[in-house]
Amino acid sequence: MFHYGQALFYKIGTGYNVYVDFIPEYLEGVVEMLHIGCHLSASGGYMHIGKEALSIGADTFQFFTRNPRGGKAKDMNIEDVTSFLALACENHFVPIMAHAPYTLNPCSADARVKEFALEVMADDLLRMEYTPNSYYNFHPGSHVGQGIEAGIVLIADLLNKILRLEHTTLVLLETMSGKGSEVGGTFEQLRQIIDRVELNEKMGVCLDTCHVHDAGYDIVNDLDGVLFEFDTVIGLERLHAVHLNDSKNAFGSRKDRHEKIGQGELGLSTITNIINHPLLCHLPFFLETPNELDGYAEEINLLRGAFRE
Ligand code: FE
Ligand code: FE
Ligand code: ZN
Repeated sequence: MFHYGQALFYKIGTGYNVYVDFIPEYLEGVVEMLHIGCHLSASGGYMHIGKEALSIGADTFQFFTRNPRGGKAKDMNIEDVTSFLALACENHFVPIMAHAPYTLNPCSADARVKEFALEVMADDLLRMEYTPNSYYNFHPGSHVGQGIEAGIVLIADLLNKILRLEHTTLVLLETMSGKGSEVGGTFEQLRQIIDRVELNEKMGVCLDTCHVHDAGYDIVNDLDGVLFEFDTVIGLERLHAVHLNDSKNAFGSRKDRHEKIGQGELGLSTITNIINHPLLCHLPFFLETPNELDGYAEEINLLRGAFRE
């Protein structure tokens, strides 16, 4: 890869293709190491997750803000958060990512379900400020028969009620597989949500490799094409994180079942292409593969070995 003026070039096959018409600041420096973590249990507190992440060679992690079913969150323990922030700083962690309970439905037809999503997400965003400049990822939800358009409007309405100018957290929409009436199965849908959000400088996207593959984006045979499409529709400057998962299901299946790295339909060579891609290699990667701690340690080790600059 090289850049010339405002254009970023890199080699595809035998020729050079222009990729994006800007050079993001983050691509100016050399990316020296892979930033990677996995989903970890938050039940032991921040310091506990931080140490667990370190023990498996991670420099970030993802966690649920509360019980995935959406119950009440534990009170913040200031001492625990403060110790964690020191640990993260000493060990050069990159920003951590909280995942909203996946049972929330911000675009439900049921007023109470919608209200619940709003209350939980608003509370989560307050809690996120204890670990400033982190990511808060959520599933856009399912429109349950109201139609994609109506779903998009409801999701944006909710975001307009909870985003605050003073928040330091970046709120990420996750790319979905499009199963059932899920919103977010296409880049266009995510773009339409972002367009309706007033404080959209607070918004970004987290690309889930299993989900986009299952949604019909061919990252196995045409990763460049998919990233080009992402850039055209949403803009690569909105892409802040990757959920790195293999998939149990076939291309375009709209299924969403994660597989261990290298053991699914994506395979190790696709995963290796993803972490090394010049437009992705600087991003934080979060594993959500079916693993216990030792399995995650092995995958992180494998991927660190496959990362070359
Ligand atoms: Fe998710
Ligand atoms: Fe995910
Ligand atoms: Zn998934």
